Amino acid sequence: MRSEFLPFARPDISEEAIADVVDSIRSGWITTGPKTQRFEKSFGEYVRSPYSMAVNSATAGLHLAMLAFGIGPGDEVITTPMTFAATVNTIVWVGAKPVLADIDPVTLNIDPQNIERVLTPRTRAIVPVHFAGRPCRMDEIESIAHDHGLVLIEDAAHALGAEYRGRRIGTALGDTHAAIFSFHPTKNITTGEGGMLCTGNEEIAEKVSVLRQHGMSKGAWNRYAVTGNPHYDILFPGLKYNMLDIQAAIGNDQLLHLEKFNNRRRQIVDRYRRELGGLDTLTLPGESGKGDIHSWHIFTPLVMIEKTGFSRDEFMARMREKNIGTALHYQAIHLFSYFADNFGWKRGDFPNAEYVSDRIVSLPLFPAMTDDDLAEAIEATREICGRR
Ligand SMILES: *Cc1c(COP(=O)(O)O)cnc(C)c1O
Repeated sequence: MRSEFLPFARPDISEEAIADVVDSIRSGWITTGPKTQRFEKSFGEYVRSPYSMAVNSATAGLHLAMLAFGIGPGDEVITTPMTFAATVNTIVWVGAKPVLADIDPVTLNIDPQNIERVLTPRTRAIVPVHFAGRPCRMDEIESIAHDHGLVLIEDAAHALGAEYRGRRIGTALGDTHAAIFSFHPTKNITTGEGGMLCTGNEEIAEKVSVLRQHGMSKGAWNRYAVTGNPHYDILFPGLKYNMLDIQAAIGNDQLLHLEKFNNRRRQIVDRYRRELGGLDTLTLPGESGKGDIHSWHIFTPLVMIEKTGFSRDEFMARMREKNIGTALHYQAIHLFSYFADNFGWKRGDFPNAEYVSDRIVSLPLFPAMTDDDLAEAIEATREICGRR
């Protein structure tokens, strides 16, 4: 057994990033400023988005996107039951009604046919989630959004570096579109906490920029800089969702390593696939579609509980006994008490998501994982789930 616990994820932050954080702290300018602006610019160039707005979490980004598009009471927003709670929480916080469309059991992404089934005259937006970094069937989702005049807000928290048919996730898709990324410590790059909202719509970008900073017409950087003007107006009752330069200092450096990080993620996934592929007690996640790039934020086999004779939770506990961390992404949204109690959802409503929710587990996957770490995670999995 390993002497040291192997977490399922751990950030990889360079000495250069640490030095640049210290530089921010010593400079006397630690909140939003030039490093945040630089991060927005490089990020926008990377995903090919005309406007990229840094915020303090993806949750904040999702909330702001919905506010900026004017989504609110009386509106319905369609999303997937196989996502993190923030996707649905933010729909609830703007006063709209979340509507779930069941997933495709193979891709674990929202199934466009199920989206069509739950459309109503009140539908205002679709929020697809690229689960684990595998792009959704965006051509079909975009055409539904286009035909019904809907806003498209991509929850791209898992999908930094992913591509759909040669187009990077986050690339602007027109005036009724935004994509949100997360820089939580487990994500493909981190800023500690943080997020980015990408859009091609100048008016939405402007609203987001005001809303993320109290609704003030100018941010602190413009007010307190040498050439700044001290006057501002309040245009909306805004929030406090801005990113710090301390965070952007990490982000700027992380972005330089993204391709290397994602290549290492793919390498780890390939080895998991080779060495776990023969077990009939596990169903491994599939590759992305032809011409697409998967960003492999997480590697999520299904524990085939009919064959193992024990539950997914038991698998996780046995891995823990071997000092190997795993995680659960995700319990299906509709099974959480708040959502079940308030939206009338119950077991049986989204059978594909439930099937996955009962079996899914995330194995350790992060770029700084060594080959030995990986060998031990594989060995532990095979001991628990049976050898070939
Ligand atoms: C991580 C995550 C979020 C929230 O990101 P934060 O930056 O932690 O707010 C939202 N949606 C999905 C699918 C996520 O994985």
